[in-house]
Amino acid sequence: MPELPEVETVRRGLQPVMEGARFAKVEARRRDLRWPLPKDFVARLENQTVEGLGRRAKYLLADLSSGEVLVMHLGMSGSFRVFQGGGENTPGKYHHERTQHLAHDHVVFHMGNGAIVTFNDPRRFGSMKIVARAKLDQEPLLRALGPEPLGNAFDAAMLAHACHGKKTSLKAALLDQRIVAGLGNIYVCEALHRALMSPKRRASTIATRTGAPNERAERLVDAIKAVLNDAIKAGGSSLRDHRRTDGELGMFQHNFRVYDREGQPCPTPGCNGTIKRIVQNGRSTFYCPVCQK
Ligand SMILES: [Zn+2]
Repeated sequence: MPELPEVETVRRGLQPVMEGARFAKVEARRRDLRWPLPKDFVARLENQTVEGLGRRAKYLLADLSSGEVLVMHLGMSGSFRVFQGGGENTPGKYHHERTQHLAHDHVVFHMGNGAIVTFNDPRRFGSMKIVARAKLDQEPLLRALGPEPLGNAFDAAMLAHACHGKKTSLKAALLDQRIVAGLGNIYVCEALHRALMSPKRRASTIATRTGAPNERAERLVDAIKAVLNDAIKAGGSSLRDHRRTDGELGMFQHNFRVYDREGQPCPTPGCNGTIKRIVQNGRSTFYCPVCQK
């Protein structure tokens, strides 16, 4: 499943062709993705201009000139192809399926600038919804989300406050979308390793008795921001071969320090530990039991 860096890579790939452009024609080839497409989906998009293409957690948000927002989620296997000026590329493409059958091209945006943006989703866990911009705060998909991990609101004080008194593991706390939005299994494992903190550590131990941040909270926030920024810089990553807009392989997956590296030596300088896999809340955790305390 794409995580935040991959979605941000997709956003940056779509931004140049969608922002400032008008939906000249929209094709909805099915009535539903994960959920039914909104009522009058095509009519509410056609002739509207995309005033901005933003992101909240793993949702892409296209601000429309009508005052509505098109909220899009890639789900498990969704991707966009951009066809423009005789060339085609796929921003942040993931080869979850070996072939991208045209039969899975469910929504096609013909932009006024000549670009054609196609949403392909073999497994159909993706979604598209249209909501009024003024009501975006109350949108159930977005309402409960915590701050963006790369935004200014996410800092040591905020994280310590959220974890204060929590008896769950640090891993579980970081995966909780109400505490911080958009972090998934891969980058939580990677961030905890960079911070040299055990995924099994109690979440409450990054806060003082009064809920103020301690040194661990600072270290953890820095590690989360660093791992996400590095992944975005590398053009996102996925478990399988991943291509950026220019067709180059995204290299970040080769830079995973612990994820999917069970039995391999720990990359922390001076550590002679071996990466271990455990299961927490039904999901694999990879970590080094020697240097992650
Ligand atoms: Zn280690």
